[in-house]
Parts: sequence; structure tokens; C-alpha cells
Amino acid sequence: MTVSPPPGYDGPSLADLAADVSTDSDETLSVSAPFTGETVGNVPACTPADVRGAAERARETQQSWSDRPVGERAATIERFASLVEDSRGDLLDLIQIESGKARLDAHEEVLDVVATTSYYADRAAEYLTPERKAGVVPLLTSVHKHRDPYGVVGFITPWNYPLTLAVSDALPALLAGNAVLVKPAEETPHTALFVARLLREAGVPEDCFRVLPGEGKRLGEPLVESVDAVSFTGSTAVGREVAAQAGRELVPATLELGGNGPIVVREDAPLGRTVTGAVRGGFASAGQLCIATERIYVHESRYDVFCDRLVERVRNLDLGANFEYSTDVGSLISETQLSKVQSHVDEAVEAGATLLTGGRHRPDVGPLAYEPTVLTDVPDDTAVACEETFGPVVTVTPVEDDEDALARANDDPYGLHGSVWTGDPATGKSVARELDCGTVCVNDAYISMWASTGAPMGGRNDSGIGRRHGDEGFQKYTETQSVAVQRGHPIAPPAGVPNRVVAATLSAYLRLTRAVGLR
Ligand code: ADP
Repeated sequence: MTVSPPPGYDGPSLADLAADVSTDSDETLSVSAPFTGETVGNVPACTPADVRGAAERARETQQSWSDRPVGERAATIERFASLVEDSRGDLLDLIQIESGKARLDAHEEVLDVVATTSYYADRAAEYLTPERKAGVVPLLTSVHKHRDPYGVVGFITPWNYPLTLAVSDALPALLAGNAVLVKPAEETPHTALFVARLLREAGVPEDCFRVLPGEGKRLGEPLVESVDAVSFTGSTAVGREVAAQAGRELVPATLELGGNGPIVVREDAPLGRTVTGAVRGGFASAGQLCIATERIYVHESRYDVFCDRLVERVRNLDLGANFEYSTDVGSLISETQLSKVQSHVDEAVEAGATLLTGGRHRPDVGPLAYEPTVLTDVPDDTAVACEETFGPVVTVTPVEDDEDALARANDDPYGLHGSVWTGDPATGKSVARELDCGTVCVNDAYISMWASTGAPMGGRNDSGIGRRHGDEGFQKYTETQSVAVQRGHPIAPPAGVPNRVVAATLSAYLRLTRAVGLR
């Protein structure tokens, strides 16, 4: 097995990408390939001073980027999408080298970046056009709402979607006229550095999109201190720290955090399609996906047959650590992740859960390969039931009816994503509306939601604050300024008119405008 880029890789070498990091520090981050465990690169680790310096330079450059006509920024970002498409094979290799995910899972990331680019590039001008608002005195008060970029936006991103999460949410920030600083996960900095190269090649000024590899706990604070808005994707525990710091700095923060995705399989669910969806939802990116399926609640009348069919499909999944499209489930990212998944499964089995399939580390496949796993009879108080496992593990539980399914699904601190499976989409939609999650799919695992870029995505409860995608995904990177232009006399007591008369006149005016529906 090779961990250097596979034959056909035509992108920059990993050492070459590492050389793009701007720092005087001689500390490095060692990056290893989950497929083999071997070190594939050493990337300079930025210091807090590097972060502050990058923010200063970003601030100096941002104004000229923001002064460009929005159509020019959109054309630049569209060029980036074309470069991503042209570099697809190399990006897939790089994502796989760093994250160990299956090739189809990496491919989803590339599709996502191209689709998100087009969505926002097409709409940026419209979002930034000043909007006329009703003025308090018709004809005399003219009000417009303007949107300005915040300035410099900081992104702290995780390893599980090293391409998508390094750039997709940053694209609307750039289009809005912001500069962007990205602190990628320690495990996957090369993919973010490749993205920065492609953005530069497309015409984004170097200091407007800087990648700052380094340790999160060392760079998080200086980053949040130096930027005007922050976007964090990662664990709930770290999200709370980032939010607390953003609160102290009074900068807006959007946080997409953990999940423990429930799915509801109704009595009338078409089982073939439901099993296909549950497999995708549970095992895409080896379950290392915030919106993954972790808990499956099945109507009791279909429980046995559902379990049989699910197990049959899961046993046939091809677990692999390679660059081939034939692999269905890739590797876990790290020893930490492997031991977490193992301990969740082992604890559940010791507590009485039944292992229907999987449950084994497979070093014969790869040092971090873990079998796709299905558990039933899982006690409610085990970690696999009530925490995010973030691995290729699903639990299946029989339920009496929709109410029972919803009560169990919602008895959870998270609220990121869920799905409902049914032969009756209208009822499915009603059940979906009762799931306490930021997004829900009916008769699909997650892609119909994720890829519908116009709809906002994000978490409720412990799964976060704020949304990516849709109007919200753009507007969160702008702050509004409203300007009211008053013609004639200002709305202030005229000289010599008693305040009592002014008060009565204003009240009469308010009554009139309410009566004629002017407000
Ligand atoms: P995971 O458990 O999936 O690795 P984390 O929340 O630990 O998720 O990491 C997500 C991102 O947050 C990574 O880029 C990581 O370096 C960064 N990070 C980790 N700790 C901190 C921290 N204390 N402050 C800011 N960022 C952090």
C-alpha cells in the first residue's frame, strides 16, 4: 500500500504544500495517513503571533477585495469552482490520504464545493443589493438596508470533511467581501493548503484566504481575538469554548457541533429503500459525519425483517483502506477515534446489547479500519445510545408507534439531523416536523438535504447555533447598516410647539397609520 499520492496524482507534493505556510516557527505538525499509519508530511505549526500577523495582513487586503465589484468576486469564485473540477482526481487523492475515507465519500466533498460555489456566486449580487424598507412617514422617510462584510472571518474546521469544511462555508464569506483565515484540523492541513492554492490561482488575493495549521487549543484564542466573526465546526465541548470566547470578544459565532442522528422507520416504510438509506446514513465517511445516522427506531411490526435486511447489506459492505471506488467504507481517522468507537461498542455489549454484525477492529485491512457495526437491545444509558460515537456503528430499537419513536429520538441533547422513512410522504413530513433537529430528510439519509443548498442547515440544542447554506449562510457574514433619509422637517419638536401638542400629534399619527395599515 502506498501512502504517497497514488499513480496519476498530478497535484503539488505534500512538502510543496507545507512550504506555503507562512511562519518563522520551526515547530511542525506530523500528518499521518490513516490507510497505513505512516507519516506522510510535516507541516509547519503556526504560532499565536502568526495568527495575529495573518489577521493584520488580511485586514489590510480585505478592503481592496471588498471594493471589487461583486460580479468580479463572483467570477473569481466561479473560476475556483472550475479549478476544483479540473483538480478533482488530485483532490480526491489528497482527501483520502489525509482522512482515510472511501473515494465515493471524498467525491461528495468535491461535488459539494462546486455546487456551493455556483449557488452563492449566482446570488451574491442580489444578496448585496441594498433593500428599500418602508419609512415611517411615507414619501418623506426613505430607508435602505445595506449589507457590509464583517472584515476578517475566522474558520476553525475539523478533519472529517477536510475539503468541504475548509472552504464551502468560507465561499459566501469571500463573496460578501470578507477575508478568511482557516485553522484546519491538525490531521488534515494539506487539503486546506491545496484549496488556498486553487483560490489564489483563481484570483483571490493571497492574504484574503490564509490557512494557519496548528494546534487548536493554542491558536483558537488568538484567532477569535483577531477576527470579526467566527465559524466553528467540531465537537460540542470545543464549540462551547469558542462561543464563550466569541462572547467575550463580542464577535458573532456560528457553531456546527456534534449529533447523534436518529431515524424513524414507520410501519409503512418501503424496506428496501429504507435499508439503503440507513446504510448510507450510518456508514458514509465510516460514520465520521456530524449528520450521520446513529440511532434507528423501527416500528415493532417491521423490526425483525428490518434488522435481517440491514445486517445482510452491512455484511456485504466492502471495508477498505485504498483509493478504489469499489470500497464502500473507509478507515477511521486516528487511534483516538478508533478507541472511542471500540469502547462505545464494547461497553454496550458488556451492558447487554446484542451485536448483530461488525464490532471488530480490522488491522488486516488497515491500522484504523473498523467493521461496520449494528447493535440492538442497547441499554439507554450506554455511551453508544446517548453520546455521539462518530464511527461506523448504528443501533436499532423497536418502537410502538410514531409517538414512541419521536419521544425516543428527541430524548437527546443534540439536534442536528434526522430522517423519517415511510410510504406516505405527507405523514412523513408531519413526523419530520416533530423531530427536534435543524434538518430532517424524508425517505433519504442526508444528501437530499445537504445538496439542496438553498435550505439552511445547522443544529439545535447541543448541536450548535447558526446555519450554513441558503440566505442565512451568506447573511451571517455580513452586518447590516440601515440608512434613513428624512425629507422636510426632522421628526423632532418644532421650535415653539409645546411637547404636549407634539405628543398628541405623534399618537394621532400612529393611530392613523395603524388604521390605514401603513406600518
Ligand atoms: P474533533 O473531536 O472532531 O477533533 P474538535 O472540536 O476537537 O473536534 O476539533 C475541531 C477543530 O477545533 C480542530 O481544528 C481543532 O484543532 C480545533 N480545536 C481544538 N481545541 C480547540 C480550542 N480549545 N479552541 C479552538 N479550537 C480548537
